[in-house]
Amino acid sequence: MATSVRSIKGIGEKTEKLLKKLNIETVEQLIHHYPRCYTTYPDPIPIADMEIGVRCSVYCQIDSPIHMRSFGKRKVVSCLLADQTGSLFVRWFNMPYLKSSLHQGDRLVFTGTPVFKDGRRMMEQPEYCRIEIYRNKMETFQPVYPLTAGLSNQLMRKALKEALLICEPQEYLPENVRKYYELDVEKKAVKEVHFPTSAQSLDRARTRVVFDEFFRFFSALELVKDREGKALNTHVIPMEERVEAFIEDLPFPLTGAQKRTVQDIRKDFSGTVSMNRLIQGDVGSGKTIVAVIAIYAACLAGCQSIMMAPTEVLAEQHYATFCSFLNPYGIHVGLLTGSTRASEKKKIRLMCQDGSLHVLVGTHAVIQDNVLFSDLGLVITDEQHRFGVKQRDRLMKKGADPHVLVMSATPIPRTLGIILYRDLDVSIMDELPASRLPIKNSVVGVSYRPAAWAFMRKQVLEGRQCYVICPMIAEDEKLSLENVEEYVRMLSQALPPSIRVEALTGKMKADQKNEIMNRFSRGEIDILVSTTVIEVGIDVKNATVMLIENAERFGLAQLHQLRGRVGRGIHQSYCIFISGTDDQDAMKRLSVVGRTNNGFEIANEDLKLRGPGEFFGTRQSGTMDFAMGDIYKNADILKMAAQTV
Ligand code: ADP
Ligand code: MG
Repeated sequence: MATSVRSIKGIGEKTEKLLKKLNIETVEQLIHHYPRCYTTYPDPIPIADMEIGVRCSVYCQIDSPIHMRSFGKRKVVSCLLADQTGSLFVRWFNMPYLKSSLHQGDRLVFTGTPVFKDGRRMMEQPEYCRIEIYRNKMETFQPVYPLTAGLSNQLMRKALKEALLICEPQEYLPENVRKYYELDVEKKAVKEVHFPTSAQSLDRARTRVVFDEFFRFFSALELVKDREGKALNTHVIPMEERVEAFIEDLPFPLTGAQKRTVQDIRKDFSGTVSMNRLIQGDVGSGKTIVAVIAIYAACLAGCQSIMMAPTEVLAEQHYATFCSFLNPYGIHVGLLTGSTRASEKKKIRLMCQDGSLHVLVGTHAVIQDNVLFSDLGLVITDEQHRFGVKQRDRLMKKGADPHVLVMSATPIPRTLGIILYRDLDVSIMDELPASRLPIKNSVVGVSYRPAAWAFMRKQVLEGRQCYVICPMIAEDEKLSLENVEEYVRMLSQALPPSIRVEALTGKMKADQKNEIMNRFSRGEIDILVSTTVIEVGIDVKNATVMLIENAERFGLAQLHQLRGRVGRGIHQSYCIFISGTDDQDAMKRLSVVGRTNNGFEIANEDLKLRGPGEFFGTRQSGTMDFAMGDIYKNADILKMAAQTV
C-alpha cells in the first residue's frame, strides 16, 4: 500500500506540491530519494591559503565589532575575521540574531566558499561553530539532496527523518545473495545513506543502494528474459597437442591477448557446459586466426563448424583465409553466399549433411535456410552486432547445443558490455600484433584537402593503396556533404591518369561490389572512394591511407572501424579525418580518435559524450539515470547486480 507523503509529520499541502515536482508522492518514494552527494567538513586552513570558489574552513578570531545594517527590510550582519596569515570579511543576510550571538574576540571555525565581491575577498553566509564541535563534524557526512525551488535541504532532512520512522524498506534479496556479495540489509543501508554514521558504513550502504538501483534496472530490461540456463557440453573437444603444433606452425607468433583467448576457448571446449563466448577484439587484433584455431580443434574432435559473416565480401575473405590455413591439414571448407551457383549450393548442402564438409563459411541469410549438418559442434559469428539474438539462436538450433563463439570488433565499454552481453563469457583482445606500426592520425579542416591528396598520390607512387570515405553516394541539394560520385571525378582530374580511382557504394549490386573489392584486394585499384559500406572487416594489407571526408558526420566507433581498414600490414599507415565544420563540439569529438588508436578508450569517451541511451541507439537516455549509481565508477557493483538478476 502506498502511503502519501502527507502522512509524514510536518508535510503540508505546500511541501507535498514541491515534492511532487521531484516525482515524490509516497513515503516509499521519499526514502528512495537519495542524496546527490555529501558535504564533509575539511581540515581548517590558514586564511592566506583560501582559493576563490573552493569551499573551505578557517579557524580564526572575530577581529571587529559585529555590524548590522538594514537595507529596507533586509538586514546584513558583517564582521572581520583574522588569523596569523591574514584577514577576511564575512557577512550574512537576514540573520539579525547573529548580532547578539557573535562577539568580537570569539575564536570559531567558519566554513564557506570564498568569493570576490566589491573589490575584495569575502565569505557570505558561512556556517560557523566552536572548534570542539567542528572536530566532531569533521567525522560526519552531510547529505545534499536534489532539490527544487522552495524546498530546502534542511526540510528534506527533516522529512526523511520522519519518513524513516513510519516506513521501512522490505528486504527482497535472499540472505545468501546478500551474504555472498557482503551487502547490507536494505533497511540499514537506506537509513545510513540518509543519516551517515561513519565513512565506512556510508561506503557499505552506498554499495547496497547502488546495487538496488542497478538490480531494478536489470529487472526491468527485456534482455533479461532470454536466460535459460546453460546447455550441457555435448561436444567435448579435448586439449590436444596437435593444436599446439598447429599454433607453432602459424606464420607469426600469437599476441598475448590471442593466446589468452585461445586458452579461454579451449577451457570452454573441454568444460561441462557448452561454450557461449564473446571475443571483444579491437579492429586488427587478429580475431580471425583465433577462429581458425578453434575450428581446427573442433575438426580434430570430429565436429563441424560454421562461420557466419555479415556480408559476402567478408564471407569470401574468411573463406580464403580458412582454406589457406586449414586445407593443408586435410580440412574441407565450403562457401555459401547469395552468389553461389545453385548446383554448387546443392553440393555443399549434401556435404554438410553427410559430414564430408568440415567447415562452412557464409552469409547468415544463406546459412539459415535448409542447410543441415551431420554434427555441428561450433558456431561462430563475426561482427555480431549486425545480427540479432534471434538469428544467432536460429543458427544454434542447427546443431545439438553447439559451442558458440561471437566475434565483435565494436569495443563496448566494460560497463556496458556487462549489460549487453550478460549471458556471454567475454574474452577481450585489446592488443595488436607487435609487428604493427601504430596508425598516424590527423584531424584537419577542408583547407588541408589538397595536401591530403598530394600525400595519397605520393603513397600510391610508392606502391600503396588508399581509401576515401564520403558520407553520401551522390550529390544532395539540401546537404552540402562530400559524395562519392563527385569525389571520384574530382580526384581523377587532380591526379595523374596512371592512378586508378574507383567508386564503391551500397547502391551497387552485390556482384559488382564484390568485383570492385576483389580488384582492390589484388591491387588493381589504387584509390577506392566509398561510402561506409567498406566499414566491416576488410583486410587489405597494402592499403595505408584512410581519408575520411565530413568526419564530423560519423560516430566515433564508426570512425575507429573505418580507420581499422588500414594499418594491417608492415607499412606505416595514416588516417586523415577531414572535418567539414569547425564547430567546437565536433572538433572535440574528433580529437578523441585523433589522439588514440585504442578502441576501448574511444568507446569509453563516446559513451561519456553521448550518454548510454545514445550509445545503445535507443535515445532513452533517461532509463540509465541512476540517483546514486554511476555505471563508470561502480562497474563492479553493476556486474554483481547483473549476475544476480
Ligand atoms: P580483426 O580482429 O580486425 O578481424 P584480422 O583477424 O582480420 O583482424 O587480422 C588482421 C591481420 O593481422 C590479418 O592479416 C592477420 O593475418 C594478421 N594477424 C593476426 N594475428 C597476428 C599476429 N599474432 N601477428 C601478426 N599478424 C597477425
Ligand atoms: Mg575481422
